[in-house]
Amino acid sequence: MSHDPTGKRALFTSQTGQDQAADGKAALFSHADQPPGPVLIDCQRCGATTHVGAGDALRRVLGLSLWVPGKPYSRRLRCPACHRRAWVRLTLG
Ligand SMILES: [Zn+2]
Repeated sequence: MSHDPTGKRALFTSQTGQDQAADGKAALFSHADQPPGPVLIDCQRCGATTHVGAGDALRRVLGLSLWVPGKPYSRRLRCPACHRRAWVRLTLG
């Protein structure tokens, strides 16, 4: 009767190699995953939170610029969700 530890050891080595390959793919996917927009617009009228690009947010702020500092929803501009002028809160995501 003879044991065969070599076969088991080879099996473990093979599994370790596969785990390392899976980790590499996971890191690649997480790196490619990007948020839809860097700026969040919270609308007080409809309650929606919309992701927009920095350029889009800047155009909205410059187009209809009514800004009241000190309020939680300090910007009045066109909401991208309900398409109406509303008090919104801009947050950098
Ligand atoms: Zn809205």
